[in-house]
Amino acid sequence: MRIEVVTLFPEMLRGAVRFGIVGRALERGLALVGTEDPRAHAVDPRRTVDDRPYGGGPGMVLKPEPLLAAIRAAHARLPNGSPRILLSAQGERFTQRGAAELAALPGFLLVTGRYEGVDERVIELGVDREISIGDYVLSGGEVPALAVIDAVVRLLPGALGDERSSLEESFTQGLLEWPQYTRPEVFEGRRVPEVLTSGNHAEIERWRYARAVERTWLRRPDWIVEHGLAPRASRVLNEVLAARGAGELRRKGESHEQDRAGAREEPDGPEGAGFQAR
Ligand code: SAM
Repeated sequence: MRIEVVTLFPEMLRGAVRFGIVGRALERGLALVGTEDPRAHAVDPRRTVDDRPYGGGPGMVLKPEPLLAAIRAAHARLPNGSPRILLSAQGERFTQRGAAELAALPGFLLVTGRYEGVDERVIELGVDREISIGDYVLSGGEVPALAVIDAVVRLLPGALGDERSSLEESFTQGLLEWPQYTRPEVFEGRRVPEVLTSGNHAEIERWRYARAVERTWLRRPDWIVEHGLAPRASRVLNEVLAARGAGELRRKGESHEQDRAGAREEPDGPEGAGFQAR
């Protein structure tokens, strides 16, 4: 895969992609990241790339001539039909599915804005889509471009040590990922859930799936409303809710008993009281 990035800060891009999974993937030749600086296409002696906005107002706007020339130069290095994508707070939201779609392409171009953004005519003439990484405004498109590159490159076959990692991750199966633990088994009084040390793979899979469903329900109900749940997830959610309801009732009963005895209620254990998926 070949990725080109149009940026006023090529060193920022080239520096950041040297690390971790992306860095290793690039070293192994799974992807190639090139950059194109609009400043190199500015024709005046001062290499001007921005100007004041028509109509007045604060800030500067990226001028169309050097930016479009940079887009065209970088696009010419990519396989035919590679999409030209502008990073923009106004774009469609970047998602895991969007990352998987880009990972299936032979190449794509990322255009990063700065200042107040880019002249609208560049979008009309040199951009196919706009992508936002979230509902907040950053000072430039380089960090969003790096987020896109990271999310895409780690999905390329061979980029991760174990291909299962990307299949099991949050959002991939329509669920957030389950909680993860590593050694030691007891840390500051908190024990790893017993099932994970049982060696019973079927039980572990069931536990993880239930925790993934529960987490998604607790943390991203909006995701469930938008995407729905697979039949298994929906069944497991009902079981989880029933178990939580039962735990709640049991806790209330216990605290009632303790109140009567004048005892103080102890805080919940590390796993949270009242629910254990079967
Ligand atoms: N004036 C623009 C607006 O109100 O939409 C914001 C410009 S922002 C300061 C400068 C550049 O940062 C943008 O052109 C874009 O490339 C990038 N950027 C900022 N926030 C972004 C986001 N949430 N997603 C993707 N790119 C973003």
